Amino acid sequence: MSHRCLWPGCNAIVLDHSWGCRGHWHRLPGNIRSWIGRAYRAGIDTDTHPTESYLKAHAAALAWILEYEQQHAAAKEARDAHNRVQ
Ligand SMILES: [Zn+2]
Repeated sequence: MSHRCLWPGCNAIVLDHSWGCRGHWHRLPGNIRSWIGRAYRAGIDTDTHPTESYLKAHAAALAWILEYEQQHAAAKEARDAHNRVQ
């Protein structure tokens, strides 16, 4: 069985026992990886009754990802602005 990587917007197909694709998994900070590692079970992302600990770990991961992507968008915006000036 397989499912999609749980990084928002990523369409990589990964094995059920993995949270996400290799690249995205390793982009998560260690504390969130170990949190998810403790809470994640195969199929839990599509389970209608996931555990409370998984929901909390996943919410923390999504919040971190959102911040990460905003920082990247801001950095890209700064680069683009810089390039326009030159
Ligand atoms: Zn991914």
